[in-house]
Amino acid sequence: MCGVLGILTGGHAAAEIYEGLTAIQHRGQDAAGIVTWDGAFHLKKGNGLVHDAVSEKNIKRLKGHIGIGHVRYPTVGGGGAEDAQPFFLSYPLGLAMVYNGNLTNYHELKRELETKKFRYINTTCDVEVLLSVFAEDLLKHGPTRTEPDVYFDALRDTYAKIKGAYSTVALIAGRGMLAFRDPYGIKPLIMGERILNGEKDYAIASESVALAILGFSNHRDIGNGEAIFIDLDGKVTSRIIERKKHTPCIFEYVYFARPDSFIDRISVYRTRRRFGKELAKLWREKKLKADAVIPVPDSAQGATLALSDETGIKYREGLVKNRYIGRTFIMPAQKKRRQSIRRKLNTINTEFGKKNVLLIDDSIVRGSTSAQIINLARQAGAKKVYFGSYSAPLRHPCYYGIDMQTRSEFVARDRDVDEIAKKIGADALVYNTVEGMVSAAHKGNRKITEFCTACFTGCYPAGDIPEETREAIARDRIRADRDRDSVNTEE
Ligand code: AMP
Repeated sequence: MCGVLGILTGGHAAAEIYEGLTAIQHRGQDAAGIVTWDGAFHLKKGNGLVHDAVSEKNIKRLKGHIGIGHVRYPTVGGGGAEDAQPFFLSYPLGLAMVYNGNLTNYHELKRELETKKFRYINTTCDVEVLLSVFAEDLLKHGPTRTEPDVYFDALRDTYAKIKGAYSTVALIAGRGMLAFRDPYGIKPLIMGERILNGEKDYAIASESVALAILGFSNHRDIGNGEAIFIDLDGKVTSRIIERKKHTPCIFEYVYFARPDSFIDRISVYRTRRRFGKELAKLWREKKLKADAVIPVPDSAQGATLALSDETGIKYREGLVKNRYIGRTFIMPAQKKRRQSIRRKLNTINTEFGKKNVLLIDDSIVRGSTSAQIINLARQAGAKKVYFGSYSAPLRHPCYYGIDMQTRSEFVARDRDVDEIAKKIGADALVYNTVEGMVSAAHKGNRKITEFCTACFTGCYPAGDIPEETREAIARDRIRADRDRDSVNTEE
């Protein structure tokens, strides 16, 4: 999962991109970067958080009214600084690109580019391949044409070749900004406008929160399969490149997005509350008695409050998070993740002592987080520890950009609920259902009837993924994790 942001403004774009990226920092903490254009490209990218990768001095150097930025969360792709985005090519025209998603035919595309087009692909990042495919298509359609249709014509060819999920913003030197979303609209992408000093500015971002904090309003999602071109004078042109059934990723609402964001007009916060309401029904069926319901911070608060309202179980805060440690799962290496759960969370013992507690989290992946939290609750004096996941059992890898590793790593893969409860040490476990989740998300926008639920169901909306591709992606992920592990040990 990554975050993208593009801005066209009358002012200094880089400073605003920097600020906007910090609002979507939760989408990736591994690397960050910004490229601007003012007659030449100015680029700064590197490992770490936005403030690690880009300094105040860099911002001054990144001149221009137009630019794009990125925060990276690695799935497939190495952890080196050269893998950080944006990427750019000088031919044709000068193209820079940031991207959120995953190309499921990456290996095939890379091979073709190398053997048929003699393009050298230097990194393991999908965006480098996507940028090269688009560059070839733009060349074919005649980059001397200046009307926006040249980009849309090129994109039609690009869409025909690439498979998977992609929400992309590109900067075209001397021309403008081009944003596009895959035919299924799996990853979010939203545009906003603002009037500043009498001029209209535009921004396009992964999440509405980045637009809101920068004062952009009139938010409108880029539709599934839609491309938008904004020229340097602020003229906006839009085309549907290829449209299929809109199936936004449901995991954005579960975990990834900030609760104050709206994705495809659906409030992330309200959806989490509705997930909690659904879970309340299933908890009641268990006929167990809890004295308190406690959220695992930060994602579970909304769902837990709703469950408390529904069931009458008292809502209590029993786990306190150290805000100055990043989201544990997002740290790439499993070793680091394990160590940091204890560093990250502490218990308020008065809320656990001699009580039967129901802990709520957004999801259970490998089960190591929940096992450790249950253990903490017992150490804090809880009598019975029940666990609730407001998403359904995760069983299938995400091939569209969420770091859900290899199939064997899911605790729910070959276990039923009681076996999982035993494995994580819970006295009882309750999961949401996929149907309940879909109905909860759908209530936020009745026009969206389906969501990508592939990580729960194994049904991949953008087409079935051949076994060899699955294996290749799994191998790449294991290798990337191992590489990062060795980097982490050396630190
Ligand atoms: P695990 O220990 O593997 O079961 O991790 C579960 C925890 O990781 C949950 O508390 C979630 O909040 C979080 N989580 C779930 N999925 C992801 C993901 N794809 N990326 C980052 N964090 C996640």
